[in-house]
Amino acid sequence: MFGKVLIANRGEIALRVQRACRELGVRTVAVHSTADAEAKYVKLADESVCIGPPPSSQSYLNIPAIISAAEVTDAEAIHPGYGFLSENADFAERVEKSGFVFIGPKAETIRLMGDKVSAKDAMKVAGVPCVPGSEGALPEDPKEIVKIARTVGYPVIIKAAGGGGGRGMRVVHTEAALLNAVTMTRTEAGAAFGNPMVYMEKFLETPRHIEIQVMADNFKNAVWLSERDCSMQRRHQKVIEEAPAPEINRRAITRIGERCAEACRKIGYRGAGTFEFLFENGEFFFIEMNTRVQVEHPVTELVTGIDIVQAQIRVAAGEKLWFRQRDIEVRGHSIECRICAEDPFKFTPSPGKITSWHPPGGPGIRVDSHVYSGYTVPSHYDSMIAKVISYGDTREQAIRRMRIALSEMVVEGIKTNIPLHQDLLLDERFIQGGTSIHYLEEKLAAKEETLKGK
Ligand code: ADP
Repeated sequence: MFGKVLIANRGEIALRVQRACRELGVRTVAVHSTADAEAKYVKLADESVCIGPPPSSQSYLNIPAIISAAEVTDAEAIHPGYGFLSENADFAERVEKSGFVFIGPKAETIRLMGDKVSAKDAMKVAGVPCVPGSEGALPEDPKEIVKIARTVGYPVIIKAAGGGGGRGMRVVHTEAALLNAVTMTRTEAGAAFGNPMVYMEKFLETPRHIEIQVMADNFKNAVWLSERDCSMQRRHQKVIEEAPAPEINRRAITRIGERCAEACRKIGYRGAGTFEFLFENGEFFFIEMNTRVQVEHPVTELVTGIDIVQAQIRVAAGEKLWFRQRDIEVRGHSIECRICAEDPFKFTPSPGKITSWHPPGGPGIRVDSHVYSGYTVPSHYDSMIAKVISYGDTREQAIRRMRIALSEMVVEGIKTNIPLHQDLLLDERFIQGGTSIHYLEEKLAAKEETLKGK
């Protein structure tokens, strides 16, 4: 096992990784921007290094500063968390070239999966079903593009090969709007991701977002750790996640899970990863792979009993996977609500000082959060301040426990989206389970209409 790990991230995931390290007896180095100097997890770490001013481009994305921090503290490995540099192949490469272990897959795997066009190609070869669409990137010739769209059939979605975080996508309903949408997405993608390449997919009208968690070691052992349903989304961003996915035939899930594990063996995958699918009319369609730990990993931890972050660290340190597919058993149900510092219905960010903080507790409740009374939510980063995760023997129990947890929770001084979650936990369609990825947006639009009518 490593003696010391540097955590190249901030917020709740920095604390989550730190806890995993401490349980493994590994010392930790926290790196932070000046905006996070007072954070609790920075003080809890064995060592800390300031890597720059608040803007992430100068701190959490500053590769030389992070590598120097690892050098001066004698860390052996770097955990990238999620977001920031976690899916940056150049970073992974620089980390390994500088003599440290990158806790994640090989740089070449990150590169392959980071480009959604090459990822889809690799998946097709590995026998994973994909959303129908263009063969690879769209050509320059407008006539060709029109032809491809006719074959795929409207509506279509134009997506950036280098896109991420729900950005770089545009839905097109008619041929008249097609070429303009392609040009606009190309321009935006070039500016935002440094890669103007775009591709086309059939826009699925009522799919669910179902993803498979995988874990692989350096010895070609790969298992899938059940699925998550992340269909409750706004602007392609997840709001509530759960495991297992309600109302889906277990045999169909097992089939797709095995395909994912097999794909990992074929591409020589190592570490934790997630295969994301759209699920419609009983079929799974691959959309992308995330080569890192995900925000929603706790729901899988609660239903499988496997500590995903510890597993990442252990396989990075060279351990063989200590569980096999037949050891993976899904028990009970788990739901996660992402608590964000924002207006619950207008969604404007609400950074600032938390004057009072009372997290919930009790049976089946886990809270992953770095905040406390007196903590100031900086305006420079993602607005998520906590994840409340509930567990129950049944989905009904997990929902009931989540309702109680949110009713106990007090966050004063800033606005949060807790009222939105409370609404959703009473929503009949959510309670039924199995809503599509468009459900939340439609519900919000309907609410807006009623408010206007008044
Ligand atoms: P990102 O990397 O930005 O998260 P994804 O490819 O994972 O992008 O897509 C994010 C979300 O966008 C999906 O969960 C889904 O809601 C929507 N989406 C993506 N592709 C399609 C599609 N072909 N049809 C309908 N919705 C889609």
